Amino acid sequence: MRLITEKVSVGSSPVIIGGGSRIVVQTMCNTHTDDIGGTLAQCRAMVKAGAQMIRITVPGLQDVPHIKAIRDSLRAEGIYVPIVADIHFSAQTAIEVARVVDKVRINPGNFHKDHNIARERFRELIEVCRECGTAIRIGINHGSLGEYITNLYGNTPQAMAEAAMEWVRMCVEADFRQVVISLKSSNTVSMVQGYRELVAMMQREGTIFPLHVGVTEAGGGDSGRIKSCVGIATLLEEGIGDTIRVSLTEDPVNEIPVASYLAARYSGAAMPQLPERELRMLDAACTWGPKLMRHEIDDIPAEVDPYLRDEIMQAARRRFYKPEYIACPGCGRTMYDLQKAYREVMEKTSCFKDIVIAVMGCIVNGPGEMADADWGYVGEGGGKVSIYKKNVPVLRHVPEDEAPDRLVALIREDRKEQGMQ
Ligand code: SF4
Repeated sequence: MRLITEKVSVGSSPVIIGGGSRIVVQTMCNTHTDDIGGTLAQCRAMVKAGAQMIRITVPGLQDVPHIKAIRDSLRAEGIYVPIVADIHFSAQTAIEVARVVDKVRINPGNFHKDHNIARERFRELIEVCRECGTAIRIGINHGSLGEYITNLYGNTPQAMAEAAMEWVRMCVEADFRQVVISLKSSNTVSMVQGYRELVAMMQREGTIFPLHVGVTEAGGGDSGRIKSCVGIATLLEEGIGDTIRVSLTEDPVNEIPVASYLAARYSGAAMPQLPERELRMLDAACTWGPKLMRHEIDDIPAEVDPYLRDEIMQAARRRFYKPEYIACPGCGRTMYDLQKAYREVMEKTSCFKDIVIAVMGCIVNGPGEMADADWGYVGEGGGKVSIYKKNVPVLRHVPEDEAPDRLVALIREDRKEQGMQ
């Protein structure tokens, strides 16, 4: 049974999120926002593939006219897909861009180090959104909860839910209901637990905003697809989730068929045409993943393809047969060839077990978002990479062509010190 949430209307040719409507499929551009032609081309391809909502990064005030130009051009072509601005830190950018887009994604906790100022700026944003008919997504990420909340609740799923509830209460108090919430983690167990706790908290307080569901930094290829399906399907089976993003370290157009499959399977949307192999893989992930996540089973039947069994068991964090890779999908902030870096790091490190390696696109947000990682590989820009061990930078400014081998050497040295292979 679908959880009945508030109904949020996004855009001028509105897409309805929540209130029992069909699951909305969305994605995000990985082009630079000042590359208006490139971003427009990507938006067109996404819409053609079935995207119902598109997010575009807005790193600073200078990008507000760019996203406006992109939205205006799409409208001029008759493409009314809602455009969502992705804001990381700047309250002023959120407030300005809220006047020209359909929805703004923010984590108000990052608006200011002084929490009272962050709250004040969020109040200002609510008023601008009310005036302009703009929706808000409050997007909390496990990897970047901030000191204020981790001091109170640790780095836990409960902390994500509590972090969201503060802003939920402010929206309810202000009687602003055009709100969607997300609590993302690259760890499927934390992500599922966080959403369950948030739903319970919203139910207790009487207002349930719609939920945007996704596994963040899921990586790419089969693993990224399976990890996304295991996390998202577990929640959708429990009726939780009104809009979804399958985040892959690939061309974002590739995200749409996977998300569309999930939307079709769980809310009756049209089933996309998928190659037979992919269909079998997604079906297996959605069949066995939620059962593993709920501990209804401890293994997958032996007749299932052994490769799929291994991948699904790892995605549900029940058995690890290879390194666990976290990789962001990239966005307009990406500072190197992320997909190439991800491939190279995987090739060089596949021999290590019991290890979590993060490959992140930018030095501004990447280090903060790779909470679970033992090692981080982060693009600095200018052809250079930083390597992190447990969130501490151990090598900076390494040329990109040397960086995979330097990472491997560091891992080997560390394992030797610990008496591991
Ligand atoms: S870590 Fe990746 S997805 Fe996140 S802001 Fe940086 S480049 Fe974009």
